[in-house]
Amino acid sequence: MSLANAVNKVIFGEILKGLALTFGHLFHKPITQQYPHTKPKLPDGYRGIMSLLRYDDGTERCVGCALCEIACPSGVIKVVSAEEPDRPLNRYAKTYTFDVTRCVFCGFCVDACPVDALAMTKEFEWASENKRTLFLDKEQLLANGDRCFPVRGKKPAYLGSIEGDWYLDKVKNKHYPTHAETD
Ligand code: SF4
Ligand code: SF4
Repeated sequence: MSLANAVNKVIFGEILKGLALTFGHLFHKPITQQYPHTKPKLPDGYRGIMSLLRYDDGTERCVGCALCEIACPSGVIKVVSAEEPDRPLNRYAKTYTFDVTRCVFCGFCVDACPVDALAMTKEFEWASENKRTLFLDKEQLLANGDRCFPVRGKKPAYLGSIEGDWYLDKVKNKHYPTHAETD
């Protein structure tokens, strides 16, 4: 045994080194978070649970085109669309279902939506012992949107506008406007 090793053994060198390392960390800012007591600060663009959005007048954005359903690689979304009873050319999602258990949170559906009706929230604490609670319907998705995106966008002028109503009136009465009338 060398002299250095013998001295190390006598003064418990390795133990002292370990203690020095431990005490050194006592004065550092912790890098771990005490979740769930401390919630993480999530970045904008975080892909959490899905939501359906409304316009500022409370009407639903979704027009039931089902492009999100086509874009989804996991078969998560099912849309059944219908015509609005009092606005024959306007469509909406009669039913919209979303199976969270199959979602891979890729965001393709959000990108595919032509009217920005879908958005991913920053909510992630949806663990459940009952898979049925993770099969969301339209009302639940809209509630997610109402809760997470209280500030809504303006409705485009062509939706529900005076011009749109005039055009629909003509269509309903089977008088299709000519180019001259619409110019
Ligand atoms: S985030 Fe991806 S997997 Fe989930 S519903 Fe949208 S397209 Fe499908
Ligand atoms: S959420 Fe968007 S893409 Fe999906 S059906 Fe509604 S309007 Fe179409």
